[in-house]
Amino acid sequence: MADAAYHHAPTPVEAGLKCCCPRCGEGKLFRGFLKLAPACDRCGLDYGFADPADGPAFFVMSGVGILVTAVFAWVEVVYRPPMWVHLVTVFPGFLLGCLATLRPVKSWLVAAQYIHKAEEGRFESLGRHDFDPRRL
Ligand SMILES: [Zn+2]
Repeated sequence: MADAAYHHAPTPVEAGLKCCCPRCGEGKLFRGFLKLAPACDRCGLDYGFADPADGPAFFVMSGVGILVTAVFAWVEVVYRPPMWVHLVTVFPGFLLGCLATLRPVKSWLVAAQYIHKAEEGRFESLGRHDFDPRRL
């Protein structure tokens, strides 16, 4: 089915928040916690193009790390609690924050990859904006 048939395709952010298919917005993207399904169970989009690599982990660790570290520093400066308080709040906060955001961020990156047709660079395509690998 052509992409033009999907008038209600989600934006990358919507697809990320719903963890759904970037083309139809209805099918499931994941088969496990972070393992992608082979294809959409609604529209049949093959998820073989999806390869966000370490992108989700990088964005999640950076974002959650900055946020948790900022809260840690603020609590330390303002309240000066004993170190065990930080131990039982900072590490679980970091762990739960990462686990809670990994799936949406991965889904968002897969949707952005699909919408922008991002793929690995190829030598044949350098300098050619009209390059289509299917015409080789
Ligand atoms: Zn779909």
